[in-house]
Formats: sequence, structure tokens, C-alpha cells
Amino acid sequence: MKLTRRDNWRVVIEIHPQHTHINISELGFPGIAHHLNGTLSGAPLELTIVPRRLGDFGSVSIGDRLVSNDTEGDYQRRCEEMLAALLHKPHVRSGRVDCDEKHTCSHCGLRWEEMTAAEAADSFLRFDDHSIGGEPVCCRQAIDEFRQERGVPALTKEGDE
Ligand SMILES: [Zn+2]
Repeated sequence: MKLTRRDNWRVVIEIHPQHTHINISELGFPGIAHHLNGTLSGAPLELTIVPRRLGDFGSVSIGDRLVSNDTEGDYQRRCEEMLAALLHKPHVRSGRVDCDEKHTCSHCGLRWEEMTAAEAADSFLRFDDHSIGGEPVCCRQAIDEFRQERGVPALTKEGDE
């Protein structure tokens, strides 16, 4: 079956700098003397913020899975909290929580790919007359499982992987 893994969680915010006074140190330039502060100007810009790792406690850093049994959910919650706080800032107009999704097959570990309806209708591309759109293409086990769930007759050709 299709396994979905989400990682590289991040917060993306859009900043509208016009006529906004912002402490430059807030942009990641700490230690700037007070008189060197100014006003942001220019076109709206997008900032991507990667949250601190779950297992990063400053002086001690351990694997995420040692501190969480739901790393995806914990990263998502951490990002949503950051986003909610950032949206209170006047120069932050909009934002979103983003991540990368990877789909793999639980049987063979390959990238999950599905036959399109057009491919399933093409006698040269489909596995047999029973192929339908959405059918996985990576391995025999995935196809068997997919067909079993939908009551589609199993592939008859042996070793046709
Ligand atoms: Zn597979």
C-alpha cells in the first residue's frame, strides 16, 4: 500500500515591508546597534523558517524519534504554533505550513506510482484487461493488494512484475 512520509516541515510567511518599521535584529541579524535600525522597504518577500529539531535541546541533541513517537504531528504542531505567533506581527500578511511528501510502496520500497485512467485503457500499457486507473505499477504485491481491495480479478500472468 501507499506509505506517505512527510518531512522537511517549515513555515513560509509573506512579509510586506512597505512603511513597516522592523528591528533588523528580528530578521536574524542580532547585535545590530540600535541606531543602525531602519525601515524595511521593497517588494513583498517570502521567508522560509525551519523549526528547531525536536531532539535539539540546545546543549544536548538527540534523535527526533527518541523524544517523539509522532514526529510528523509534532513538527506540524510546532510549525502551526510558530505560524500563529508570526501572523500577529503587523508586517506578516500571510503564511502557511509546508512540508515535503514522499510516497513509497510498503512492499518494495520504490516510489509509489499509479497508472492513469488513459494508461489503463491502453492495451499496450496496461497489465491486463482488468487494469484500472489508480492501479500501482511498482510490484506484484502492490497490484494484488490493490485489486483485492476493489474486487478486481487478480493478475494472471506469473512473474510479470
Ligand atoms: Zn511496490
